[in-house]
Amino acid sequence: MEHPSIRFYICALVLLVAVAAGSCAEDPQVYITETGKMYHLDGCRCLERSRIPIRLSMAASLGYEPCGHCNPPPPPSEIIRPARDTGPYRLNVAGLEHPQEADLAEMTRALVVRHVDGDTVYVSIPCPPIGVKSYESVRFIGVDTPETVRHQKTVERFGKEASAFTRDHLLNQPVFLAFDWQLRDHYDRLLAYVYLADGSCFNAILVRDGYAHAYTRFPFQFLEEFRSLECSARERGAGLWGSDKQ
Ligand SMILES: [Zn+2]
Repeated sequence: MEHPSIRFYICALVLLVAVAAGSCAEDPQVYITETGKMYHLDGCRCLERSRIPIRLSMAASLGYEPCGHCNPPPPPSEIIRPARDTGPYRLNVAGLEHPQEADLAEMTRALVVRHVDGDTVYVSIPCPPIGVKSYESVRFIGVDTPETVRHQKTVERFGKEASAFTRDHLLNQPVFLAFDWQLRDHYDRLLAYVYLADGSCFNAILVRDGYAHAYTRFPFQFLEEFRSLECSARERGAGLWGSDKQ
C-alpha cells in the first residue's frame, strides 16, 4: 500500500534544506573581536587577537559596523540598528515592581564575550549609551553568587555550578542591559540587569533557581522582589539551598 505522506515528507525536506541554504547565503557568518566595534570577514588582520563568530543580521542588530579593511557585506537594510546618543535606561522609577515590566526596546544591546563567574561577565557594546564604554565588565545588580563566600566547601562547590550556569546561558549570547540608580561599583564595573532575548531577567533567574543570594546591601529597584524570590528558593530547597548543604 502506497503511503501518500511520503511525497509530502520529501517536499518538506527539500523545502527545509532550501530555506537553510538560503538563510545561510543571505545571513553569512562574520566575525567580531572582543573589544572592537566592527565586524569582519574571516582572515581579516583585525582578528589576530580575538575572533568571535556571529551572523551578519545579529552583528548588524547589535550595532557593529562593517570593517573598512576587509569589506564584509553591508548591514541588511531591514535590520533595526540601535539608537545612538541615548542615556542609559534606568529601572529605578516609581511604580516599576517586577523585572518583566521593563521595556526591552529601551535597553542597551550587548554581546557577552567573556565569562568571569556566576555574577560577572564582560560584554561588547558597539553602540554604548552615554557614560558607558564599548567594552565593559558587568556585575549583575542585586545578586551574589556563592564563590565569594570562602571557607565553606559546600557553598564553594555550588559556586562552581552557578558559574557554569551563567557561562552556559550567556557566553557569546546577545543580551539587553538595563541599569539602576548607580551605574558603577567601586571596581568600576558596570552594574546592570541582564535581560535575555525572551524578555526574562537573568539576575532574577539566578535568585529564583537558587544560584545566587539576593544581594540587599545596597538599594535597587527590585530588592523586595528578589528577597521574595530568595525566600521561595529556600523553601523549595533550590540550588544552593538544597538538602545536600550540611
Ligand atoms: Zn576586517
